[in-house]
Amino acid sequence: MDNTPEYLDLIEETGNFGYWQLTIGDGDVFWSPGVYRIHGVSPTDFTPNLENTVLFYHPDDRQAVVGALENALKKKKGDSFNLRIIRSDETIRYVRSTFKCKLNDNNDVIGLFGIFQDMTEQIQKTQETEEAHNFLNTVIDYVPDLIFVKDRQSNLVLGNKAFWALYDQTPEQLMGTTALEHFPKDEAAAFIERDQRVFTIGEDETEEDITNSKGITRAYTTKKIAFTRRNNQQYLLGVARDITQRRLYEEQIKEYSTQLEMRNINLERSNQALEEFAHTAAHDLKEPIRSIHSYVEMILYDHPDLSEAIKDPLKKVMSVSWRMGQMVSELLLLSEISHITGEFVETDLNQVLIKEMDGLQMRLEQANATVNHEHLPTIVCHPTRIGEILRNLIVNGIKYNESDEKTIDIGFFEDGNKTVFFVKDNGIGIKDDHQGKIFKIFKRLHGKTEYGGGTGIGLAITKKIVEMHNGRIWVESKKDQGTTFFFTLS
Ligand code: ADP
Repeated sequence: MDNTPEYLDLIEETGNFGYWQLTIGDGDVFWSPGVYRIHGVSPTDFTPNLENTVLFYHPDDRQAVVGALENALKKKKGDSFNLRIIRSDETIRYVRSTFKCKLNDNNDVIGLFGIFQDMTEQIQKTQETEEAHNFLNTVIDYVPDLIFVKDRQSNLVLGNKAFWALYDQTPEQLMGTTALEHFPKDEAAAFIERDQRVFTIGEDETEEDITNSKGITRAYTTKKIAFTRRNNQQYLLGVARDITQRRLYEEQIKEYSTQLEMRNINLERSNQALEEFAHTAAHDLKEPIRSIHSYVEMILYDHPDLSEAIKDPLKKVMSVSWRMGQMVSELLLLSEISHITGEFVETDLNQVLIKEMDGLQMRLEQANATVNHEHLPTIVCHPTRIGEILRNLIVNGIKYNESDEKTIDIGFFEDGNKTVFFVKDNGIGIKDDHQGKIFKIFKRLHGKTEYGGGTGIGLAITKKIVEMHNGRIWVESKKDQGTTFFFTLS
């Protein structure tokens, strides 16, 4: 049994091709079933001839078909071409036609015969691959980092615009080359050695300086990762980020912080020197001031018969020297605070407060003042100094207060991880623009004798004690509406 036609049909169908024949002279054209299938027509309603077969080709391709056939006849040689046909349902197919000349004994061309193959699927696949490749390239070109892929031998197989900019050659020229062809030998060897290490350990991140083809060196942090593709080939993906600017900033910040540190050290030194000076001056002044006061007191005591014209100025000297003595003592106290020794200990603040209130009992009663307080926490602090803070703030709350019933409220609240203490009074309040001044040494907002007098040093001492505990103190107040002092102790 001869099954040749069935086999042929099967082969044509599976391979998506057919065969054809053209007889010169009578112009007869033979198409196998495969050729009919590719053209989308059937032998029953289409009879191919030279003219109507050419008409199947895309108008832009017809000239090329005719040219190829004429050329083949002239040269008596076969040829092949890839062109487009438009089928009867108007779909376009990409076909490959390969043919040869049939010669008689006199070497005349008596016909052409050939294979006709539908390549549409293959061509579409190639186009899709190209599109995917272009898409990938477009996307990575937008990335400002340098992106590159190398094969196991460190040959470049992919790169983005930022990466190619390192070189003065086109991507096409660079593809398939290694660093050895572009960088000084030692540098290139180091690059390749690092690549090879990545293939062994999987990934690597390093900071490196790279000099481009124009001789400009920039700093990069480069991350490389090894990966394996479906073909079992190993590749390396590299992403290098330009950190030149960041490095510059880091260096500047380092320089600034060194300068700042130096300034702080100098400031600390001069503060210390100033404090030592204040301490010495206050200490040395204490005695002469006391002497002035005592001598004047003695003169007044020993000479009661002095005229009022002499007594009056002497009394003024006594009062001024007394005030000076008080200021000097407080200055001494202020300068001593930062040298306080003694323990920072776990302290129940309720006990500290009660002790201070006991000491102030008479004063509170005379002023018709009440102190209300919450149950305060136990904290690590310097108990004597914290007592001074509370005393200063309570005394000020009574002093700068014209209410008939003076009240001082003491409490605390949590703000994030900080405990904020407060001392609130119903006194005369402080105008907004005065609030920044009150913590300055010897700063009073009132006359020397107003509101019971004072040296203007109490809040400066309070602030210093708070700062000694690494805390912060601030005030909230409105004229005639009372004042609240807030402070933290860590
Ligand atoms: P002094 O009380 O000796 O003057 P301070 O340093 O304690 O010194 O206070 C500085 C100034 O701040 C005071 O003179 C006063 O004008 C103002 N001040 C302090 N506490 C209060 C308060 N609770 N209410 C209103 N004013 C206050």
